[in-house]
Amino acid sequence: MSEALLVACPHCHTLNRVPHTRLAEAPVCGRCGKRLFDAHPVALDAASFDVHAGRAELPLLVDFWAPWCGPCLTMAPQFQAAAVQLEPQLRLAKVDTEAVPALGARFGIRSIPTLVLFRHGRELARQSGAMSAADIVRWVRAQRG
Ligand code: ZN
Repeated sequence: MSEALLVACPHCHTLNRVPHTRLAEAPVCGRCGKRLFDAHPVALDAASFDVHAGRAELPLLVDFWAPWCGPCLTMAPQFQAAAVQLEPQLRLAKVDTEAVPALGARFGIRSIPTLVLFRHGRELARQSGAMSAADIVRWVRAQRG
């Protein structure tokens, strides 16, 4: 099988075509040369969100948060730890709802932190409230069957 996936670079947001079998082999971006997976959530704005959620083919897990939100800051290292476990099967991203209010409004985010799982631009599931890394991983895997 040489099936390939479109993977958005977390650094320059260019779409890269990566064979499924090579996802775990530390692929690099054809444009900027940086790793497509570096075990860190990527911070998205409205434009890069559309690339990662709508055009890239990996499922996208977004942490909607804000800098003034205590539980969000508590969860940040847990989300980071979840990225280590979930990449490269999933892209993890953060949307600062204060810096990018349009995205919070578009998805009707009423409380933070809220995690939303997207696939091909469609929302599959969401969960509000701070979670541990183990709970995040368990929740995501439950959504995907
Ligand atoms: Zn790049």
